[in-house]
Amino acid sequence: ADKFGCPVDADQLGRQTWTFLHTAASYYPHTASISEQTQMKNLISSVGSFYPCGDCASHLRSYVKQQPPQVHTRSALELWMCQMHNDVNARLGKDIFDCDKVPQRWRDGWLDESCD
Ligand code: FAD
Repeated sequence: ADKFGCPVDADQLGRQTWTFLHTAASYYPHTASISEQTQMKNLISSVGSFYPCGDCASHLRSYVKQQPPQVHTRSALELWMCQMHNDVNARLGKDIFDCDKVPQRWRDGWLDESCD
């Protein structure tokens, strides 16, 4: 019966959404065009509209108001996404992630080659 999978719970949804958001940031253009910047801002704002956990979405909307998404460059977006995730981590009592490690975690793999 599980051949086609089952609905996700809130934690799985969170992990899979973070996977998408951080990976998208890690492959975002090094220097984004105005149109790409607009589309990324719209993507983030749409997550705030449609993320299927009402509390989470509402926290995201208020975070975006205080800390507007930085979409000019890949590295700025990677850092913004990391800080946004850390804001959620802090709220949930989880460890704060070292944002210097984002490229290794989400694109290049760890320096010890454990992902190769
Ligand atoms: P996750 O937090 O899902 O992290 C997955 C992996 O990302 C980690 O193993 C780590 O390798 C990496 N990581 C961790 N922190 C960072 C970072 N700062 N930058 C880059 N990579 C990092 N849950 C709630 O209960 N309440 C909420 O209000 C809530 N709001 C959310 C808002 C959004 C926008 C999203 C996407 C999720 C939200 N969640 C919320 C879900 C929650 O953040 C977690 O995804 C869930 O609790 C599972 O946590 P986890 O410990 O498996 O790791």
